[in-house]
Amino acid sequence: MIYSLKDIGKSYGTRNGAVHALDGLTFDVTIGERVALLGPSGAGKTTLFRLLNATLRPTRGILRFDGRDLSAMSGRDLRSTRRRIGTIYQQHHLVPSLSTLQNTLCGKLGSWSLIHTLRNIVRPSQGDTKRAIAALESVGLADKQTARADELSGGQQQRLTIARVLMQDPQVILADEPFASLDPALTETVASLLMDLVTNGTRTLVATMHDVELGLRLFPRIIGIRDGSVVFDEPAVRVGREAIAALYAGEQLAPATRLEPEDWRGAAKSEPSREPNCAR
Ligand code: ADP
Repeated sequence: MIYSLKDIGKSYGTRNGAVHALDGLTFDVTIGERVALLGPSGAGKTTLFRLLNATLRPTRGILRFDGRDLSAMSGRDLRSTRRRIGTIYQQHHLVPSLSTLQNTLCGKLGSWSLIHTLRNIVRPSQGDTKRAIAALESVGLADKQTARADELSGGQQQRLTIARVLMQDPQVILADEPFASLDPALTETVASLLMDLVTNGTRTLVATMHDVELGLRLFPRIIGIRDGSVVFDEPAVRVGREAIAALYAGEQLAPATRLEPEDWRGAAKSEPSREPNCAR
């Protein structure tokens, strides 16, 4: 078991009183699983995501990572746990003025001391350079090593975030709407890259997905969240049209998520930090 959530609640204190973003979430995620979090805006997906990457603590309940209570961790212990969790953010969090290679090296940041970081970004060791180049090769960016991150297209930047996670080599990858900014062709490329990272069964992937059809196609397990609670937690092949309609009731679905009766259902394959990041 990589994650175990028991009666998790999270409230934010605001001037107008407490906002209960999550209320009584209980579920487990096993090593090697691929899970998509679906739900309308305001459901609590981002809050859950931040609890899972240990950048927020729950207000109540117990959240265990690999058997250990995340809320009981601090200092070095927490940092080393965060290194085991790689996060792919929608906004990429790249450093625009650094090269593609340097941004990839940033994947190792959480493992380095400050001195080592400064030295290694400017003059990386041969071993780190080799690994960063291999990561860039695997996402098809080997020829862009010296290009600045801000010279890359949106799709290339998204692939660079995957290279950076490869460099980090985490046990868990959390991806926040990883395909939201990509056109359909690039979505297929980036999706297969991301899925390749987790098909060996030792890495776990949890992603928030805006595109319902894609979520059902790529992820064997779907957790639907609404108003801070789990509405359903099912294998994708069992998530029906009615369940999706109820989950998003009252919300306009994006064009890509409009569902045709049979072309999305059953298409899912059935199979079993804080990110170290130069931009923060
Ligand atoms: P989602 O990602 O599904 O859109 P969020 O986790 O961002 O949902 O938000 C869930 C609820 O918590 C919403 O009502 C939102 O307004 C509230 N919320 C999120 N972050 C904060 C915050 N920092 N302070 C106060 N309320 C927040």
